[in-house]
Amino acid sequence: MRASLRLLSSKAAQLFKSMDVPVLQPGQAEYDRAIATSNRLFRFSRPDCVVQPETAKHVQAIVREAASKNIDLTIKCNGHSYAGHSTAMKGVSLDLRRMRSVNLDMNSNVVTMDAGCQWGRVYETLISGRHNGYIINGGRCPTVGVSGFILGGGLGPFTRSFGMGCDTLAEATVVTADGELVTVKETDDRNSKKGKLFWALQGAGGGNFGVVVQMKLKVQNYKTLKGP
Ligand SMILES: Cc1cc2nc3c(=O)[nH]c(=O)nc-3n(C[C@H](O)[C@H](O)[C@H](O)COP(=O)(O)OP(=O)(O)OC[C@H]3O[C@@H](n4cnc5c(N)ncnc54)[C@H](O)[C@@H]3O)c2cc1C
Repeated sequence: MRASLRLLSSKAAQLFKSMDVPVLQPGQAEYDRAIATSNRLFRFSRPDCVVQPETAKHVQAIVREAASKNIDLTIKCNGHSYAGHSTAMKGVSLDLRRMRSVNLDMNSNVVTMDAGCQWGRVYETLISGRHNGYIINGGRCPTVGVSGFILGGGLGPFTRSFGMGCDTLAEATVVTADGELVTVKETDDRNSKKGKLFWALQGAGGGNFGVVVQMKLKVQNYKTLKGP
């Protein structure tokens, strides 16, 4: 059974490659780097392959292919889950770290982050733009991934002023289990399907409601101490 699943994963790897999705396989140095973890509890993790999508379309193709072949997918943003929930012991590791664009818009006070970003990269946009007095309500540690943090709630240094990280989420774009791309917003009707999905993404945990590919967070003005 395990051998046949491995064969399926390896066929899927060939297919992903043909779609120009970066794929890493055992024997490649980049594969070893991608699965490396500082949590020694999970040092024996050896997924059949690691896929590193660069676009939402890549993620859609991966999710559809894995669903059609019944292959396990384990989503990783930056792998800081203490419980190893982003560590693939088998199947395909869906590693989002190549999706790391950040765009800060100080007209709307919104930062748009690809789902593979780390907080350090997001904060750099405030620093390099010299936006003194503004904060993005993320984690203290610069290497924590934005996705796991927000999807799990997220306690940060500014939580007492602005709530948890997920309280400043304005919008999320998600690839659902059937491969559809859906954007949900805080303004969606809470009783609608989209509104319920948005609610679930605000702290109910990563890996439960599809693959988030992009998030928009409200930037806070710290000087006024006004919360969201
Ligand atoms: C050094 C360190 C410092 C920390 N500091 C804080 C802190 O100050 N405040 C705090 O609240 N927490 C903190 N944490 C906990 C951390 O926020 C969580 O472990 C968080 O899940 C890590 O985010 P990540 O993206 O790196 O996680 P990952 O391990 O990559 O993912 C965590 C979970 O989310 C899923 N997931 C990841 N990306 C996506 C996605 N795009 N779509 C859907 N599911 C996804 C994964 O499958 C997994 O289940 C810290 C952890 C560490 C190791």
